[in-house]
Amino acid sequence: MVLDAPGTALRAADLPRPALRSGQVRIRVDACGVCRTDLHIRDGELTEPKLPLVLGHQIVGRVVEGEALPAGTRVGVPWLGWTDGECRYCRSGRENLCDRGLFTGYTLDGGYAEEAVADARFCIELPSGPGDVEIAPLLCAGLIGYRSLRAAGDGERLGLYGFGASAHIVVQIAEREGRRVFAFTRAGDDAAQSFARELGAEWAGAVGERPEELDAAIIFAPAGELVPEALGLLAKGGTVVCAGIHMTPISSFPYELLWGERVIRSVANLTRRDGEELFRLVREEPIRTTVEAFPLAGAEQALDRLRRGDVRGAAVLSVTNGT
Ligand SMILES: [Zn+2]
Ligand SMILES: [Zn+2]
Repeated sequence: MVLDAPGTALRAADLPRPALRSGQVRIRVDACGVCRTDLHIRDGELTEPKLPLVLGHQIVGRVVEGEALPAGTRVGVPWLGWTDGECRYCRSGRENLCDRGLFTGYTLDGGYAEEAVADARFCIELPSGPGDVEIAPLLCAGLIGYRSLRAAGDGERLGLYGFGASAHIVVQIAEREGRRVFAFTRAGDDAAQSFARELGAEWAGAVGERPEELDAAIIFAPAGELVPEALGLLAKGGTVVCAGIHMTPISSFPYELLWGERVIRSVANLTRRDGEELFRLVREEPIRTTVEAFPLAGAEQALDRLRRGDVRGAAVLSVTNGT
C-alpha cells in the first residue's frame, strides 16, 4: 500500500523489488502493526516523509534473502531503521537522536506490504511463542512504551493518559514492577476504562478526575492540554513523559505547576538497547497484547478506526493471512 501525498488515501500498487545493498535483508512481511505515528504521516502532521512511501514500522516477517541473517529467521523491524554510528549522539549511546537517522515507514519504505527490505543490524530477532500478529505491537507501542516507562523513573504511582496500544502494554510491565497504575481516558470512554482495569490498572477514569497524587505520568494521547493537566497531579520531583512524536501545542500554565523539581520531557524514537531489554522481559514472561487484525488492503480502514479512537488495544495488518 502506497502513500503518494499526505492527506490522500493509501493505494494498492505493485512496486519494483529494490536490489539489496550490503548488510540488508529482504523480508516476507507476515504482519505489520498500525501506529498512531502512521496516522500522523498519512494526515500530514509529520511533514518530511519520503514520497511515495510505504508506511509501517512494526514489521514481523521472515528473512527470504540476504547474507546478514539466515533465511527463515523471524525478525521484527522497528522504527529506527538506520543510524550513521559516528555522530555525537551515536557515540554516546543515544542513537535514537542520530542527526542522520532513517526511520522505517517514514524516511525508508516500511511494512504495509508483502515484502520489505531492512538493515539487518537494526532487525530484532523475535522470541518464539507469540504469533506474528500478536507480537507486532511490541515493535513500537511496546518499545516506545518501555522507553517512556524508563524515562518516567521508578515512582510507584504512575498515570497513563490515553489507553491505546502503548498503554495496554505498559500497564503490564508496570504491574510486574510493583507499580500502581492510574489510567486516564476521555470522559465517558467506559470501554477503555474497563479494559485498563482488566489489564491491571488500579484505577481508571476520565481526564480531569483526581484519584490521588502521581509520581510520574506518561502522555500517549497527542493532546498538549494534557501536559499541565498531568503536572497538576504530580508529586514533587515527579516527571511527565510525552511519548508521542506529535502533539498539539501545550497550553501555558503557571510556574507553580513545574516548581518543586517537576520535570517535563519527551521520548524520541528508540535505541537497539531498548529492543534488547524489552524482548528480554518478553522472554522471561510473555506480554499479552490485544489486537484487532485487518487485511493489508484494509490499511486505510485501520487508520480510520485509529483516528476515531475506535480500536481496543492495537491494530495490526495481518499480511500473510488476510490479503
Ligand atoms: Zn548518528
Ligand atoms: Zn509507532
